[in-house]
Amino acid sequence: MRIVFFGAPGSGKGTQAAILKNTFGIPHISTGDLLRGHVARCTELGRKAKAVMEAGQLVSDDLVLGMLEDRLAEADAKPGFILDGYPRNLIQADALGALLARIGQPLDIVIKLNVPNEAILERCAKRFAEQGRKDDDPEVVRGRLAVYAEQTAPVAAFYTRAGKLVEIDGVGELASVTARILAAVESAA
Ligand code: AMP
Repeated sequence: MRIVFFGAPGSGKGTQAAILKNTFGIPHISTGDLLRGHVARCTELGRKAKAVMEAGQLVSDDLVLGMLEDRLAEADAKPGFILDGYPRNLIQADALGALLARIGQPLDIVIKLNVPNEAILERCAKRFAEQGRKDDDPEVVRGRLAVYAEQTAPVAAFYTRAGKLVEIDGVGELASVTARILAAVESAA
């Protein structure tokens, strides 16, 4: 099973992907988590990405693609994967299509979690208080939502045309949202 979780920052992609990875026994690959790992380890990529991430902007397409390609080449991703946070613009969507075609692992489904901006601002404010992620500062979140609207949201139409996009209401109890997602994945399998 090869799944992409799609949606605005704070829409619950990471939380739901972490639940589904256990259900399907496939890795949850979050480009945000991978980048935060590079920042924490002070790698060359981490040094390049840090300020861009803290400002809520997108890290360069080439850097993120190279990192993702390496991750998908690892053995645990052979039976499938759940991608979270990639693709974030149309260039990345094209690059992902080409990469997956090359490794013979086309996507099964793209799940778009729909959550209104007001609820997102609340969720990120809570995460900011709990985890202190600089990009969850309410001012930065507003900027990330603008980046999402301008660069990422158009990717949904790309996957609708490919017949892969399923939209899910991401508001409500965690378990209810998970159940909606599982029903969509089962009907796509
Ligand atoms: P996330 O945890 O998915 O919200 O990602 C946190 C930050 O990492 C984003 O605001 C970007 O700065 C960076 N990032 C994550 N994924 C990507 C991507 N696919 N392309 C560019 N930047 C990314």
